[in-house]
Amino acid sequence: MRLGDVIDDHCSRCKRTMDHSIVAMMGEEVLQVRCRTCNFEHKYRKNRGGKKEMTAQEAFNKVLASVAISQPPSQRDSGKTKKKK
Ligand SMILES: [Zn+2]
Repeated sequence: MRLGDVIDDHCSRCKRTMDHSIVAMMGEEVLQVRCRTCNFEHKYRKNRGGKKEMTAQEAFNKVLASVAISQPPSQRDSGKTKKKK
């Protein structure tokens, strides 16, 4: 794996896994990639949705939650990653 190599990753613009070119690396680790479809540069997400990115599923759930007001959102929302040491 090296700069310029093509790698699969999730593109948040294309909203799907696309071919990306590696634009930044740290040792063996890919730091940044550029989508070959829309040229969007972003951090390499290891082809996962990522933690804070809203996935289509989450967006869908959010819409559902706003529609179904009678049902309060799950407790998960209150526990936003607050890491204090
Ligand atoms: Zn893209």
